[in-house]
Amino acid sequence: MISEKMQAAINSQINAELWSGYLYLSMAMHFEANGHMGVANWFKIQFKEEQAHAEIFMNYINQRGGKVELKAIDAVPTEWETPLDAFKATLEHEQKVTAMINSLFAMAEAEKDYATRDRLAWFVNEQVEEEDNARVLIDKFTMIGNDGMGLYMLNQELAARTYTAPSALAAE
Ligand code: MG
Repeated sequence: MISEKMQAAINSQINAELWSGYLYLSMAMHFEANGHMGVANWFKIQFKEEQAHAEIFMNYINQRGGKVELKAIDAVPTEWETPLDAFKATLEHEQKVTAMINSLFAMAEAEKDYATRDRLAWFVNEQVEEEDNARVLIDKFTMIGNDGMGLYMLNQELAARTYTAPSALAAE
C-alpha cells in the first residue's frame, strides 16, 4: 500500500497535471481564435500530453491499491499578447512542475517508497524534455521577431506536430 501522505501528494500532482492541460488548452483556443493555427495545434497536443501525465499517476495510485481523488481545477489565464509570451509562460510553468516532481521524489526517498520513486524518475526525465521544448520555441520566436514570413513558416512547422502517447504507462 501507498502511504496516506504520498497518496495525497500524488493526488495534488494529478490536479496540477490537469491544470497544466487546461492552461495549454486555453492557449490553443486563444491562438486558434487569432489565426496562429500551428501554435494552436502545438498547444492542443500539449493538452493531451498533460492528460497522459495525469493518467500515469492515476493508474499508478490504482495499481498500488490507493484511491484517486479528483479536485476542482482552478481557472487559467485566457489571453497572451504573442506566441512568444505563451511559450515563456509555458517554460515558467514547467519549471514549477519540475520543482513539484522533485519534491515528490524527495518525499518518496524519505519514505523509502522505492516503487513511487522509480515511477517519478520517468517524470524527472519528462520534465527535462518539457522545459527544453519550451526553450527551443522561445529561441525560435525570439529569432523571428515580427517577421511575417518567419512566423508563417514556424506556424507551418508547429502545425505538423502529431500526438503520440508519451509513455505506455498512460494506457495501463
Ligand atoms: Mg505534465
